[in-house]
Amino acid sequence: MNTKFYRISKGKIKIIAAKEEDAVKLSEAFDLIKNTDRVEYDYLQKRLKSVIVSSRLGSTNEFFMPERIWLANRSVIVKNDVSWLASLLIHEAFHATQFKNGKYVKSLSKLEPLALRVQKKFLQKLGESGNDVDRVQKNKYWKEMTGDKASSIYFRQLFKLYTDK
Ligand SMILES: [Zn+2]
Repeated sequence: MNTKFYRISKGKIKIIAAKEEDAVKLSEAFDLIKNTDRVEYDYLQKRLKSVIVSSRLGSTNEFFMPERIWLANRSVIVKNDVSWLASLLIHEAFHATQFKNGKYVKSLSKLEPLALRVQKKFLQKLGESGNDVDRVQKNKYWKEMTGDKASSIYFRQLFKLYTDK
């Protein structure tokens, strides 16, 4: 993993991406959070350890607990703007607060609306409507993602490589 992936540190959080431009875009998203809401940025430092972006296309992404590692395929980074990415980082990191004693406190269908609410609040701080978040909620796209088995397997391989070192 060391030779093929680009790394940028944001405080204690490590960004690791197969493509340099993806790492840079995520770095900008972290800067946006820092400049918009310093308290949220400090929360993030505790809730998120690493962000890993694969070389695969597709929008599948997954948050691993208790390791606090978010894995995403490239399209998540490429197809979204920096504001949305920043809000997504806040969303994903929020899931860390929903994890107690080795498991999530509720089922995914109950966890997701709360994380989406935090995400929307941040977008509104940026002066955006946050209406796209409602669309995500309505489409329940997090349920569709579980159908992407190839990415799920690949994430686990990457995750293992990263945590074994
Ligand atoms: Zn979520």
